[in-house]
This record gives sequence, C-alpha cells and structure tokens, in this order.
Amino acid sequence: MRSSLIGKIEKAKRYAQEPGRVTLSSFTADFHGENASHKISYAEGKWQCGCDFFSQWGICSHTMALQQLLANMLPKEALASPIANQSLDK
Ligand SMILES: [Zn+2]
Repeated sequence: MRSSLIGKIEKAKRYAQEPGRVTLSSFTADFHGENASHKISYAEGKWQCGCDFFSQWGICSHTMALQQLLANMLPKEALASPIANQSLDK
C-alpha cells in the first residue's frame, strides 16, 4: 500500500514537469490588475473578463496575460487572438 503511494507521488512529480499533458477546458480566475481586480472566465471556447476594455474589444491585457501564462495548458481555440488576426490581415 505504502510503496504504491510512493510510486504515485513520483509519477506526479514527472507529470508536473509536462504541462502539455493537461488541457484546461474551463476555469475562472481573479486577476489582480494594477488598478483593480477582475473576474476572468474561460468556458466553451470563450473568454470573459469584467474589465471595461474587454466589454468593447472582446480581449484585454488580462486575458492576453493568461494566454501567455497558461499557453501550454490551453486548447488552440483559447489561444486565438481576434486582434492579432485582424492586424495580420491588413
Ligand atoms: Zn480584462
């Protein structure tokens, strides 16, 4: 019993070095910005943030920061940036 738990702990340490094994399908977070904290959520391929900028643009510094922080653990659609795609097209 004890030796099998030790095996699991060692496996967990190996897994923790490989964030690509994990894909976040949904989550919520509190983002502590410079001026205020914002509620962020990601679910069903869509980001939400409580800040004013996000309500106009559908993207903001908070969601972009999380895209960078969690890059290895987010599905492809979560990393798509509508603003970056627009500027590339022009
Ligand atoms: Zn925001």
